[in-house]
Amino acid sequence: MAEGCLHLEGLRVGGGSGYVCPVCGKRFEDLEGVRSWVREAERVRDEAYSLVEGDEFGELALRESQREVYRRRKVMYELENAARVPFVRPEMVLVMYDEERGAYECRVFYKEPRPTNAMESFVIGASQETMQELRSDPNPIVRLLAEKVEEFHQLRGRLAGDGAPAPERRVFYSNEL
Ligand SMILES: [Zn+2]
Repeated sequence: MAEGCLHLEGLRVGGGSGYVCPVCGKRFEDLEGVRSWVREAERVRDEAYSLVEGDEFGELALRESQREVYRRRKVMYELENAARVPFVRPEMVLVMYDEERGAYECRVFYKEPRPTNAMESFVIGASQETMQELRSDPNPIVRLLAEKVEEFHQLRGRLAGDGAPAPERRVFYSNEL
């Protein structure tokens, strides 16, 4: 089971300063162990880079390995953040599409008293690539916003595909965040 497991369900805190994969039971002694697991994927990605010579399969392998880097980073950041600052969930997020800039503007609202240094606004380019990248950002609020914007972006895409008018704004309440 341990052989070749990609730890797709992420890692859980497991004894001491260690982390464990709930699927295969592989243990990482500490965050540094998790970081080297991320670096492993980065190495594979870099190798794929050097192999791409405009052919379709090379590009596919590169995209796949890039996705794996993002996925592992996301797992790592979550563990790092959990070990650090408490994440304050917003009370409400307003997402507005700005056609001129080709971007989504996010306004973030918190319950009073507002947490210090809380992010209040953020702009995310309206491309799947940008959103995907931000979903592995070290800041948990950025990751949350990227996830919500992607959801809204896809909905707008579907509606536009059906020839329906796509909404320009969407409010996410705390139960959706
Ligand atoms: Zn595993």
